[in-house]
Amino acid sequence: MEYRILGKTGLKVGTVGLGTEFLDKKPYNIVEETIHTAMEHGVNFMDNFLPGEQNRINVGKAIAGHRDKWIIQGHLCCTELDKNNQFDITRDLDICKRFWDDYFKFMDIDYVDIGNLFFMDTEEDYKAVFESEFIEYVLKEKERGRIRYIGASSHNAKIAKKMIETGLLDVLMFSINPGYDMLPTEMPLGQAIRQVTTEVKKNQGVQPERKTLYDLCASREIGLVAMKVLGAGKLLSPEFTPFHRPLTVGQCIHYALDRPAVSTVVIGYECREHVLDAVNYFNQSDDERDYTDAISEYHNNFMGQCVYCNHCLPCPSEIDIAAVHRYLDIARLKPQEIPHGVRHHYAALKNHASNCIECGSCENKCPFGVKVIGNMREAVELFGN
Ligand code: SF4
Ligand code: SF4
Repeated sequence: MEYRILGKTGLKVGTVGLGTEFLDKKPYNIVEETIHTAMEHGVNFMDNFLPGEQNRINVGKAIAGHRDKWIIQGHLCCTELDKNNQFDITRDLDICKRFWDDYFKFMDIDYVDIGNLFFMDTEEDYKAVFESEFIEYVLKEKERGRIRYIGASSHNAKIAKKMIETGLLDVLMFSINPGYDMLPTEMPLGQAIRQVTTEVKKNQGVQPERKTLYDLCASREIGLVAMKVLGAGKLLSPEFTPFHRPLTVGQCIHYALDRPAVSTVVIGYECREHVLDAVNYFNQSDDERDYTDAISEYHNNFMGQCVYCNHCLPCPSEIDIAAVHRYLDIARLKPQEIPHGVRHHYAALKNHASNCIECGSCENKCPFGVKVIGNMREAVELFGN
């Protein structure tokens, strides 16, 4: 294991961390074996967001007697109120307090190293936390010693930057992989893709907004925790990778660790073998870790694949076409086991694929020839609306 300092917290974290999401609903022996394998390989950063009682009890039991070996990131705002007992997000302070108290009780711990504000992606999220009594509660928890440092997780560079500028954050967890980093924002797509092809080795293909965020974290000593480093498995898949060939787990880890301010990457493991696969990164040569060739060209079949740019808007039905495609692509990976979180985010969209009136306006504007109408129909089939 290699270790880095997590920004201004001064905490020494293993560069490969542990996400506990996929240990949910697993038998205790699998939870214990996975966590202990990670511990044996020097993993010491744990991200633990799920609100379920059994999940928390199992993780707590697996680390019992080893609390001092772990830097634990626990999440506020993640609750279990959905009628199907799936995780849910709320900014309701009273409800959050209940789940937060439960966290310590079920995990049987006295404090978390990082108290993380879960899924801060929109202006509404920002206002509900930073412009309300919510943040006062978080600061009091820090004073009381149940939170050592304040963190937040986000997939939105603009909101992440805004949170950092409050001066209250010590740690940011952000989705980082070459697929997300190189999706063009402002520049015409064709130009951006050519630029990726020729300049990725100089790190010029990264979206300016995201690059600025990483630099801001470095300059403000915000510890950056990378999540989604495998892009929900898409980057490893010959079918879904946007690049000319799939990356390996080691290359994805290396890419994230190469970004400024990143101290650790958090990967969700379902079993011991997944941990071993990730920590094998430390046995790899520089050549094996090298991702530059894999991402130096986009896939030949790039046409027809949505890059989530929303250049096809406006839509008369006010559908966020990029967001629908983002969730659809993840759902396509395992249609029988669509992750709860993906269903939740899809459900939270203001308008759904079922609102599509098949006007075709988006297909005329999309520079990548995406068959949006057919995809909307497929999304209705997979998500139910
Ligand atoms: S359908 Fe085309 S224009 Fe719309 S988000 Fe996807 S790639 Fe961009
Ligand atoms: S075809 Fe559907 S998704 Fe595309 S612009 Fe028309 S209503 Fe919106």
